[in-house]
Amino acid sequence: MRIAVVLEERCQPDRCSYECINYCPKVRTGHETIVKTEDGNGIKINEEICAGCGICVDKCPFDAIKIINLPEELDTDLIHQFGENTFRLYRLPLPEKGLVTGLLGANAIGKTTAVRILSGEIVPNFGRYEEDASWKKAVEEYSGTALGDYFKDISKKSIVTALKPQYVDKIPAHYSGMVEDLLAGVGDDYERWVEMLDIEDTLRSKVTNLSGGELQRVAIAATTTKDADVYFYDEPSSYLDIKQRLKAAEVIRKKSEENRVVVIEHDLAVLDFLADNVHVLYGSKGAYGIVSHPKGVRKAINSYLHGFLEEENVRFRETEITFEKRAPKSQWHSKPIVEYNRLIKEWDDFVLETEKGEIPEGEVVGIVGPNATGKTTFVKMLADVIQPTEGEIKKEIDVSYKPQYIKPSFDGRVIDLYRTEINRSINNGFFQSNVLTPLNIQDLYERDVANLSGGELQRVVITLCLGREADLYLIDEPSAYLDAGRRMTTAKVIRRFMEKTNKGGMIVDHDVYFIDYVSDLIMNFSGVPSKKGKGEGPYDMRSGMNNFLKDVNITFRRDEETHRPRVNKLESRLDKKQKSRGEYYYLK
Ligand code: SF4
Repeated sequence: MRIAVVLEERCQPDRCSYECINYCPKVRTGHETIVKTEDGNGIKINEEICAGCGICVDKCPFDAIKIINLPEELDTDLIHQFGENTFRLYRLPLPEKGLVTGLLGANAIGKTTAVRILSGEIVPNFGRYEEDASWKKAVEEYSGTALGDYFKDISKKSIVTALKPQYVDKIPAHYSGMVEDLLAGVGDDYERWVEMLDIEDTLRSKVTNLSGGELQRVAIAATTTKDADVYFYDEPSSYLDIKQRLKAAEVIRKKSEENRVVVIEHDLAVLDFLADNVHVLYGSKGAYGIVSHPKGVRKAINSYLHGFLEEENVRFRETEITFEKRAPKSQWHSKPIVEYNRLIKEWDDFVLETEKGEIPEGEVVGIVGPNATGKTTFVKMLADVIQPTEGEIKKEIDVSYKPQYIKPSFDGRVIDLYRTEINRSINNGFFQSNVLTPLNIQDLYERDVANLSGGELQRVVITLCLGREADLYLIDEPSAYLDAGRRMTTAKVIRRFMEKTNKGGMIVDHDVYFIDYVSDLIMNFSGVPSKKGKGEGPYDMRSGMNNFLKDVNITFRRDEETHRPRVNKLESRLDKKQKSRGEYYYLK
């Protein structure tokens, strides 16, 4: 079975000469295999007569075409196709009462489509996109199966669904009133969730005045308060620090005791803690996605890291992602790139104090700690974006800084942005093979910056930051918007870049796997959020992570197979044992 997909966001007929049509051997012998669309904004490929030679794929200057051979038997599992030459989703997960079902996979591989179908928002068409889809047909298609029963319940509205959307930052555009009014309008028992999520202070605030982390927790509280049967949480950990992530996970787990719950989550430590079983989604981004059979959460995450699904016999990534069993040895003999005295920064309602410290060359310092305790303020002082009230930063060095919140402010294509800002780097062989290629940036060159997705923009700005000539690279929340696989690749890229160029790196992030993968040293932040913060370190990995986890009262163990960190259940035997020994993270 052959599928042909034209990626709409990449196809730009006004910028090419229809090389796909001109070079197609079938077109040249008189077949209408590829034709222009009626509106002239794209092309159509006839899958029936396409020979699958792949010439159009090679000739398209914008990588807009995918021609893929799939096993014939998959055809009966086609759940939804948006239109001709567009994305297809094969198979669906089925939520079960009493369990949290996780969905794990790359961006643009069908997770959100699956959730939209299961929540009743999209009626599946089983590939017959030219017909009117209906729930009646969906029930018939899967009659006699559990999925058919689920469709029947959705069509009769005998089950109610609740969905926490992915992009919580869009909520203020739809609701501008008080948080308390918003929650009271959803249901009566919101107070218990508000308390569990630690957002009592936001109740009298207007939704428009909330931070990203507060918005996320209000959205989780609202979804959880709704009286429904099936709950969907799309990326519940974005904008939250590790403690808040685990509290959100506890709320979702509590909800699953009496209901069906589906979660999309890219933070693997959180998914591991949260989900009972997981469906891995694999395929080709933007072209097709296949939902695997459910697996236990440990097995699913380990398979994802291996890049291989044993039961399906499918390799979906060439390289494995591996973790160190023990903390890396401290390299304190490295020469410092930047040194600073005790620093104080005072605002009207917030004060930050950091200890004297230094950043060694060739190494990455991971910065961890709760939200609103001054991590970004510290990074901005080092980047010379703001000045300390007291203290001195001894540096005559150049700093390249990627801020936490990124906006597409450039008017033009990605390649134009790079030519303007980092022209030397994009023509440098080392930079191409160690940064641009592993992050697949060349695929984005022809795209308009304004039209990039959150994850694509994140990759572009990380690359931009690394492409500037500097001694120290300060990267604030690089994992935001990236899927789990991209997070690990990005961590590897940053680490290798610092090692090979002997530059210094400082990374602020809340994803424990990302921090574990990228860091040589750890700097700790603590304090009272939005009132006062304290920065200490950098310390070696083991001490720094132990300090941090002690502060948030969480212990991690190492998975025997992959050595990835796994959260211990609070008050479990291992949790108690590790705490009594002061071993919150790495063992000696
Ligand atoms: Fe034509 Fe070959 Fe492309 Fe099929 S794969 S549309 S035959 S160029």
